[in-house]
Amino acid sequence: MIAIPSCICGSPNTVRSHIIPRALIHDSKEGEQAVAYGERGEAGHRLRQSGKFDQNILCEEHERITGDIDRYGVDFVRVLNIAGQSAKGSSAVYVPNSNPKLLVRFALSVIWREIHSGHGVKRGLTLGTASDRICQAIFKDGDVSAPTIVSYQQFTGERNERVPVGIHPFRVRMFDRIFWQFTVVGCGIWICTDGRGLPAKFDGVRADLNDPVRAAVGDPRSLSDVGILQGIFRDMRSRR
Ligand SMILES: [Zn+2]
Repeated sequence: MIAIPSCICGSPNTVRSHIIPRALIHDSKEGEQAVAYGERGEAGHRLRQSGKFDQNILCEEHERITGDIDRYGVDFVRVLNIAGQSAKGSSAVYVPNSNPKLLVRFALSVIWREIHSGHGVKRGLTLGTASDRICQAIFKDGDVSAPTIVSYQQFTGERNERVPVGIHPFRVRMFDRIFWQFTVVGCGIWICTDGRGLPAKFDGVRADLNDPVRAAVGDPRSLSDVGILQGIFRDMRSRR
């Protein structure tokens, strides 16, 4: 099947859109030549110099809108990563978040790009009934309630070293709600797209409500032993 380029505005003049901002792929390298990014349903992991992109989903004007949003997200993830690295046994760190709505738009735009990329379409990914609302929130700064939770993950490799792993967005059910989750530079972002929202007991940890935002520091966990992620890592380890 040949993908026909078309932006949300109908323009066929689409440009290159990175699913995860290039700057964060770069950060993940930490001296390596390329970074391992895994995704569900794909055997093996790919060594990428600049991350995955799609050339058929956004025109220049709409790509520029996501660029502005991405800048906030990139800064947030970098500061979270620095805070996490100096957490020294604390269970959480606090990260400045002067514009929580921009953080939500960032998280949604990563997920939106994944879903609308050739890879996402092929796998039948969808935002379901929330789709229009989320598109408005990203590109028109529309209102959306999308409870968001962030964490500093400590996935470890064979020598117990922290691996700043990246995982493309996938859908997951937690607390009886639909969430999307993705991981960049070892920072986990969960965003609830379920119309029912989250119970009020979560308000204190929601990144879409708080400045600074609390990010739980995950216990060091071996990549080979990560619960719901096991399927993905199994895919990453198996070679084509
Ligand atoms: Zn457009």
